Amino acid sequence: MRSISFKLVGAFILVILLGMISNSIIIPDLVSTFFNYYLIYTGNTMANSLVPQLQSYYQEHGNWEGVNEIFFNNPLFMAESGPNNGGPDNNGPINNAPDLNPNTTGPNNPGPANIGPNNPVHNIQNPEMGPWMAAPSRRIDIRFTLLDQNGDTVFDNVRDPNNNQIQQQRNPPEDQKKSYPIVVDNITVGTLIVYGDPKDPMSPGFSFIEATTRATWITTLITAILAVILGIIIFRQIVSPLRQMTKAAQLITQGDLSQRVVVTSKDEIGTLATTFNQMAETLEKNQQTRRNLTADIAHELRTPISIIQANLEAMLDGVLQTSPDEIASLRDESSLLARLVDDLRLLSLAEAGQLKLVFSNIQVKTLLQKALEPLYNQAEDQSIKISLIVDEGLPDIEVDTDRIAMVIRNLLNNAFRYTPRGGEVTISARLNLENNKQMVIEVTDTGIGINPLDLPYVFDRFYRADPSRSRSSGGTGIGLAIVKQLVESHGGNVFVESPIFKKSNVGYGTRFWFTLNYA
Ligand code: ATP
Ligand code: MG
Repeated sequence: MRSISFKLVGAFILVILLGMISNSIIIPDLVSTFFNYYLIYTGNTMANSLVPQLQSYYQEHGNWEGVNEIFFNNPLFMAESGPNNGGPDNNGPINNAPDLNPNTTGPNNPGPANIGPNNPVHNIQNPEMGPWMAAPSRRIDIRFTLLDQNGDTVFDNVRDPNNNQIQQQRNPPEDQKKSYPIVVDNITVGTLIVYGDPKDPMSPGFSFIEATTRATWITTLITAILAVILGIIIFRQIVSPLRQMTKAAQLITQGDLSQRVVVTSKDEIGTLATTFNQMAETLEKNQQTRRNLTADIAHELRTPISIIQANLEAMLDGVLQTSPDEIASLRDESSLLARLVDDLRLLSLAEAGQLKLVFSNIQVKTLLQKALEPLYNQAEDQSIKISLIVDEGLPDIEVDTDRIAMVIRNLLNNAFRYTPRGGEVTISARLNLENNKQMVIEVTDTGIGINPLDLPYVFDRFYRADPSRSRSSGGTGIGLAIVKQLVESHGGNVFVESPIFKKSNVGYGTRFWFTLNYA
């Protein structure tokens, strides 16, 4: 009972019923009212021409006897010829067929003599009734009644066609009835009463109103049937996707995130279905990411932990000497572990948008020098040349200095890690030519470059283009993920390009750059 289709169909049917009722009441009523106005108007016009005729008739005859002629001779409201009124069919040879029977037809009795318009049998007219009385229908729907001085009916053009009796006079409302006094020598000798009378079942006006009413009913019924069919189609289009979505949502709640619905339209329901699918996809992707992340973290933690564990056990068993070197290597493994945990925490805070940033104004050059400082020694050890290029006149930037320094250090660490001895690493800052409210900080190396197949993934967590190499140098594959999160939390973007695989241009291994907004 509470289903949406029940409510919609119910409302639809109610509207259709109301439409049908009002149509069937209002339209026939309006039609008959306006038809009456039309009749009154026509009747008055006719009465205006009849009254002078009636006056002169009375003047001539001194009474109303034979006045019917005036009406009979008036073609305006007389019925057309009746079936017995003669016509080509009545006068034709077919009606004379009996005359052609063997008894009467012969050389002495030529048939054609009896055939023709002069045959009296076929020209019968009822002189009493007049041709218009014999007609099954009247020509007009206006009733003319002529009363004499005493109020008795002298003439009435509405007679029962069966017995030629004047039907009992109906009493129309006064505003539809009009009386015209016939005055001769200042004496009122009669009254002509005129009114529209389309209620007579024999009249064309009655048939007209009836036909209009019938047509209204038929069109209303057809419309109603079409509306119901159309309604059912529309309801199905609305309700069936909703049911489908409910079912899919229930299954998703039970853990089946692969559920999707079919999008069949571009309307609001279609948009809802599309959004529903996007939501399901996001949920599924998040679930997948979470699973992968947990697996990745477990995997990353296991290696250093198992190294530490194995070494400690070997030491306990006396297989491995407890020398300062061994202890130092164990400490390195545990710092790696600690760093990994710190990085993961930083990353998850940044991803959740919960990283607290402490903004301050700083010159770009100062910032870059601060980031470079701890790396000079490493560069010297690896015989890598470092160049710092900062364009003149760059405005200050407002950033969390420590975080951006970390970004730069992560990029430089990578550059050092993947650049062979004798290479060069350049760090530069310049205006962003595409957006004059930003500057670009760029780290370019002459190292091994990145395979184009790996490029789209280098910012993903735990992604390492060459896992064995990366692990041996202590990489965990989180550095660039942190870079991306920190730059984005400052409103900037980070990009990478590595042309070395396109052409053997050893001068440019990899180029990372990111944008920062001005203060
Ligand atoms: P971590 O930074 O967490 O210590 P990592 O350096 O391996 O470990 P990322 O900094 O995220 O991880 O880098 C991801 C991968 O991208 C690296 O493993 C490496 O394969 C590739 N990569 C990054 N920078 C460079 C570079 N300058 N030249 C060549 N390859 C690079
Ligand atoms: Mg790195």
